[in-house]
Amino acid sequence: MTSRTPAPAPAPVLVASDLDRTLIYSTAALALTGPDEQAPRLLCVEVYEQRPLSYLTEAAAALLAELSAAGAFVPVTTRTPEQYARVQLPGPPPEYAICANGGELLVRGTPDPEWRAHVAGALAAECAPLAEVRERLVRTADPAWLLKERTAAGLFAYLVVDRDRLPRQWVTDLAGWAAGHGWTVSLQGRKVYAVPAPLTKSAAVAEVVRRMGAGRVLAAGDSLLDADLLLAADRAWRPGHGELADEGWTAPHVTALRTRGVAAGEEILRAFTAELSAASGADGGARGGAAGEGLVVTGSAP
Ligand SMILES: [Mg+2]
Repeated sequence: MTSRTPAPAPAPVLVASDLDRTLIYSTAALALTGPDEQAPRLLCVEVYEQRPLSYLTEAAAALLAELSAAGAFVPVTTRTPEQYARVQLPGPPPEYAICANGGELLVRGTPDPEWRAHVAGALAAECAPLAEVRERLVRTADPAWLLKERTAAGLFAYLVVDRDRLPRQWVTDLAGWAAGHGWTVSLQGRKVYAVPAPLTKSAAVAEVVRRMGAGRVLAAGDSLLDADLLLAADRAWRPGHGELADEGWTAPHVTALRTRGVAAGEEILRAFTAELSAASGADGGARGGAAGEGLVVTGSAP
C-alpha cells in the first residue's frame, strides 16, 4: 500500500517582466501626453551619478509592490547585477531576479554560481567568443556617433551611441554578421546590444520556474531581446513603443498595447494583477480590470 500524500498546493503564477521601457522609464522615454496638470505623479526608482534616472507612475508603483508582496514578481533585465542594484523597486525585494539577459540569476540578491557555470558552458559550445564580437564592434563603429563601448558581466557587449547620427545600415550589417556568429543585435534607445543567441531571458525564467515549481508565467517586454521571453510565457504584453512595436511583432497569446511610454508600464501592471486575481479566484470566473480581488488597484494614488 502506498501512503497518502496531501493534495499539492496550486502552482504559483510567476510574473516575469523586463524593466527598462517596460515597467520603468527614463525621462526621455516617459512619452507623457495631455495637459501638464493632469500628468500622473511619478516615483523615481533609480538615481545614477546623483541624478534621477528612472521612473514609474505612483499607481504603477503600488501595483508592483502588491505583485512583489505576493511573491510573484521576477525582474528579467539585460542590466548587469550592478546596474540592477541601482533600481529601488517598490515592495519587498524579489526572491529571484534575472540580470545580464539571462546570464546571471540572483537569488535573494546574490548571483547563483551554478547558473552562471551552466550559461558559460552553453555559450562556449554554441557561439563566437565575446572578444571576436567586440573586435568587430570597435573596428567598425564610427567615432562620429560612438559615445561609449562596454562589455557587460563578461557575457555580451553594447555601445552607447548618438542615435540621430547612427546609420541604420550599420546596425543592419552588424545584425547580419552577428547572426552568422551565433549572436543577436538589439537597438534600444541609445544602446546597441550584441548578445549571444543562447543567452536568453526565457532560459533563465525556465530555471526559476523549475526552482519555484511555478505553473503559469505572465511576461512583458518591449525589445527584441524580450521576444523569446514573451513567446515562452502563457500570456504576455508588450507596450506600444519599442523595437517589438516598431516591427509590429506579436503572437497569439501576446497583447500588443497601443499605449506608449510610462502609461504603458502602468497598463501592463494592471493586466498582470487582473490576471493574477483571476487565477487566484475561487472558480477562475473573474477576469479583466474589474476583477477587483485584493491585488487590483485602480486610479492614481491621492
Ligand atoms: Mg526593455
